[in-house]
Amino acid sequence: MGVSGGAKKGVSGGAREIDLPRTTDSEDRLRAALLDWYAANKRVLPWRDERDPYAIWVSEIMLQQTRVAAVIPYYERWMALFPDVATLAEAPLEAVLGAWQGLGYYSRARNLHRAARAIAADGGALPADRAAWRALPGVGAYTAGAIASIALGEPVAAVDGNVKRVLARLYAVDADPARVAFRRAIETHADRLAAGVPAVGGAPGDWTQALMELGATVCVARGPRCEQCPVAAWCAALAVGRVDELPRPAARSRVRESRVLALRIARPGLGEGPDGSEHLLVARRPPEGLLGGLWELPLVPWDPGYETGRDEPAAIAHTLLDGLRDGSGAKLAIHEALLLPPVEHVFSHLRLSVEPLAITLAAGRGGCSSRGDRSSSGDHSAADIRPVARYGQLDRDPIVAVLREGGPDAASARRAGLPVAYETWRWVTREELAELATSVLMDKLVRAFEHAARPQDR
Ligand code: SF4
Repeated sequence: MGVSGGAKKGVSGGAREIDLPRTTDSEDRLRAALLDWYAANKRVLPWRDERDPYAIWVSEIMLQQTRVAAVIPYYERWMALFPDVATLAEAPLEAVLGAWQGLGYYSRARNLHRAARAIAADGGALPADRAAWRALPGVGAYTAGAIASIALGEPVAAVDGNVKRVLARLYAVDADPARVAFRRAIETHADRLAAGVPAVGGAPGDWTQALMELGATVCVARGPRCEQCPVAAWCAALAVGRVDELPRPAARSRVRESRVLALRIARPGLGEGPDGSEHLLVARRPPEGLLGGLWELPLVPWDPGYETGRDEPAAIAHTLLDGLRDGSGAKLAIHEALLLPPVEHVFSHLRLSVEPLAITLAAGRGGCSSRGDRSSSGDHSAADIRPVARYGQLDRDPIVAVLREGGPDAASARRAGLPVAYETWRWVTREELAELATSVLMDKLVRAFEHAARPQDR
């Protein structure tokens, strides 16, 4: 070990630290050791030697909350579709969300798009320093620091989860990671280390990536490989045998639970042609908030009252769509209702239990049928059902109207992970639905519905 002097407990910025003697000279040697290690050991990644701020921006946004291996194909496809900020700004949001589909946390894609449009509206030049990057939507302190150091050569820090872990161990920062004291202590060390990089002949971008690379490959969360670590000689946690304790585990945030109904409302005879194909009602969420801008089969709150009708899916369907009449005043008949087994989906803060309810409306004379354990027929009287809404007339569609009126209030929508109001509605064929930007949750639900529609596959 190269740690000189005895380790003693101290207090810095409210966080307890092992206060080892450190000099400018010893930190310069630490910087040089890590930069040398990085030059020899860095992984080959598509964005690694990139200096284009736009490309670095895209890669950094994609890497938030997503593993490197998962990001690579998305990054390559994105850069082929939107190679520069002008192309991204011109692209419709639908295409942007489509390219992001499957990566999750869609607000990242929407913010990239908004920021690109703001840059284009301001003349098209990318920001020239960390402060200007920080002012863009979706660009936080970490991302601005990463772009500024890697693309612009500013000796500034970029503190992500990996860097926090490395510095918490290197300086034995003993504080709750959720507390301000922890963040201040880490930022102080990160800023000081980054600022000194040019003095040892290093590139700020290499330093930023070296720290992250150390956290990703050596100073990993569980089982760090201290024997291979280039900065072990300076590591306070290693010196006092506290590597496994630091950083302290973050207090677990409470994950809420919510139960909702997903409605696959199918209407035969709405399409062009002699018989017309089956169409499904889909809705797009507003641009802001959870899954913003994505299309989905409408989600509505689960009402505890449905519990009693659980074996009677048509009763739930009738309750939901009660009193619907078409443009000529005729009652809309429910041909069939089928409640499928629940689909579970977990967001970072929310566990959704989704009850998929398939409702098929009658196309002509309102006959009813029943199929499967959880299906049942309605008791609607036969009615001559004519299409009530064709494309462009959805504002007057009684189904849209009733779902709109029955929408949740703002507080319960937020709790349940639902939009307060959908932005747009459409009747689409199954093929058209496959072309829309949808979430992973919706892909799961569509698969569940498709599977149920093919009983021979079960
Ligand atoms: Fe992390 Fe171990 Fe290196 Fe310390 S010595 S920085 S704990 S890998």
